[in-house]
Amino acid sequence: MEATELRNEVHHPVPSVLKNLYSAEQIRDRIAELGREITRDYEGRDLVLVAVLKGAFPFVADLCRQIPLPLTVDFLGLSSYGSGTQSTGVVRITQDLTQPIEGKDVLVVEDIVDTGLTLRYIRENFKTRAPKSVSTCTLLDKPSGRKAPIEADYAGFVIEDHFVVGYGLDLAGKYRNLPYIGYFDPPEDACVP
Ligand code: 5GP
Repeated sequence: MEATELRNEVHHPVPSVLKNLYSAEQIRDRIAELGREITRDYEGRDLVLVAVLKGAFPFVADLCRQIPLPLTVDFLGLSSYGSGTQSTGVVRITQDLTQPIEGKDVLVVEDIVDTGLTLRYIRENFKTRAPKSVSTCTLLDKPSGRKAPIEADYAGFVIEDHFVVGYGLDLAGKYRNLPYIGYFDPPEDACVP
C-alpha cells in the first residue's frame, strides 16, 4: 500500500444537519497538548489510564501515544444512557477493570462530562479499591448539563449545550467512527443513519 493512501481522508456520509464542531486536526493538536501536560504531571509515578467504554476508545488510543511514560491502560465499561440523547442518571458497570488499582495513580479517561453523574460514580466506586490517586481527563466538558458538583482535572474542550457525536461519541451506537466531532442543528433532527 502507498504511504499516501494511508494519509487519505475517508469520506463519511452524514446527514446535512450534522454540523462540524472540532475537526480531526483540532482534536489531534489538543490531545498533543494534553499529553504534554499529563506527561509533566505524572513523571516518576505509577500511572494507569482507565478509559471509560465505549466512548473514550479513540481518545485513549490517541492520548496514550502522546504520553511517553511507562503507563498501563485498562478499560471500564459503563452505561449511563439508553439509546436516546438524555441521561437516565443511572450508571452501571458493564465491564470491570482487569487489574487492581491499589496504590496506583489512576487517570480516568472520559469522552465527555455532562451531568457529572458518571464521574461521581467512578470516583465513589474507586475509593473502595485504594488507589494512590484518582484524577480525570475528559476530551469534552459540557458544564451546562452538570447535576453533580464535580470537575475533570484535564479537559480538552469546553462545549456549549449540544448533543455531540463522533470520535467515539454515539447516537444509539452510531457515529463513533467519525474522525471529527459534530452536533445536530436543530437538535431534534438527531437521527440514526
Ligand atoms: P454524564 O454522566 O456526565 O452525564 O455523561 C457521561 C456519558 O454520557 C458520557 O460518557 C457519554 O457517553 C454520554 N454523553 C453525555 N453527553 C453526551 C453528548 O453530547 N453526546 C453523546 N454522544 N454522549 C453524551
